[in-house]
Amino acid sequence: MTSQRTRARMVERLRAQGIRNESVLAAMAAIPRHIFVEEALALRAYEDTALPLGLSGQTISQPYIVARMLEILCEGHRGGGGCGKVLEIGAGCGYQTALLGHLGYEVYAVERIRPLLLRARKHLAQIPNIRTRLRHADGNLGWPEVAPFDRVIVAAAALVAPQELLRQLTMNGILLLPVGGDEQYLCRIQKTPQGFSETRLESVRFVPLLTGVE
Ligand code: SAH
Repeated sequence: MTSQRTRARMVERLRAQGIRNESVLAAMAAIPRHIFVEEALALRAYEDTALPLGLSGQTISQPYIVARMLEILCEGHRGGGGCGKVLEIGAGCGYQTALLGHLGYEVYAVERIRPLLLRARKHLAQIPNIRTRLRHADGNLGWPEVAPFDRVIVAAAALVAPQELLRQLTMNGILLLPVGGDEQYLCRIQKTPQGFSETRLESVRFVPLLTGVE
């Protein structure tokens, strides 16, 4: 069940659901999702569903939404693949971190729950040839020491886009985040010479972006 074949079936399903970016599909086919979920749930790793991370009520996002966000994030890169520096807020188990690394990004990932961060590190150590750095911190503050970033991707919903994350974008850089409380939508914000240009995308459901660390 946790074989390459199961992963290939997941990718076929993503294609049928409308994911078109070949680099994103190739990354989803390459990264073994089952090593990022609890052992007891490994058999369900390739279902199109969010799964509990077993800590503080956090979940690993369903494959479709991960793929869709990566597809949006990669738009505008030559060849459709990733390049440059990306900041990920809410690394969770590290699954999306690994995908970003596979897409060719230099990944800086922040997680506010220490045991989750430690687990993500352990998982990522099993994935060869990717460049990822993880930090235990409040993602609302970004990672000023290594900013600016070509892309910033947030895996938890904010009521408004955090100022620091906007500030840490390169010119033409893109921040992708879920916005809202009970009702949420995906929001793509690009920094342009004329100011920030915001696009509202589909409805989504994420855990809230919290402050501080645990
Ligand atoms: N991409 C993750 C999804 C995890 S769910 C995965 O594939 O597993 C969202 C994550 O955001 C949780 O781990 C939660 O702890 C984290 N989070 C919430 N607010 C945060 C903040 N202010 N800074 C950093 N991480 C945060």
